Amino acid sequence: MSYHLDAAKAERTQTADSTLFLRRIGELKTVSTSTAVINGVNLKILTDTRDSQAPLKKFAVQQAVTMVTNRGFKMPADSSFLLTPEVHHQNQAFHFDIQGTPVCWVSLGPTSTSGGSGRGISAEPGTRFDCATRVTLHELGHMFHAHNVGRTRFYTDDRMKAKNPGIGVQVSGYAHQNICKEIIAESFLGMMIGRNYGQDVLQYYQVNGGPRVLAGAGTAGFGIL
Ligand SMILES: [Zn+2]
Repeated sequence: MSYHLDAAKAERTQTADSTLFLRRIGELKTVSTSTAVINGVNLKILTDTRDSQAPLKKFAVQQAVTMVTNRGFKMPADSSFLLTPEVHHQNQAFHFDIQGTPVCWVSLGPTSTSGGSGRGISAEPGTRFDCATRVTLHELGHMFHAHNVGRTRFYTDDRMKAKNPGIGVQVSGYAHQNICKEIIAESFLGMMIGRNYGQDVLQYYQVNGGPRVLAGAGTAGFGIL
């Protein structure tokens, strides 16, 4: 396995990524833009007016941002959420704008209210957070992870795509696909909703640049790295 880092390739990937988010917005015929302020963070919410699930998604965005900011995470100055019913618009986070500045651009597609792929923590029954909030937390996990390790490492370090079945199976069915980036995003979501993980998962999370989740006042069970 190569650990070669390629800054030029990272820039190309990031440009393609940020262009895709902007293209998705451009594809929608009618988008209404609203703003919200959560814990001092200005959020921009772009809603396809056909999206009947938009109220659930808006609630999810506000709840997820409240949760992460309560935990001390700092949202980027540009935090924009696209609520879209388009079937080819996945739930996805885009981490850098065209200039390479860290941003939080997240699209929440039609599967976000039913738990995304259906194999992750977001679709598990019996948790106290709705599916769309969990999907949003998963996407924010990717975003903080990308900003933590930086563009070049996030996009071009093969370790970010390396599989680790022993760790993934402990986190979720989706993390069980075992790709490092997904294990990190799922573990982040898990910790945000109060799950505990064993020392081997926490160590894996830390070594791979997982966003540090601190124990908070009044909430038991968060992983401390
Ligand atoms: Zn993911």
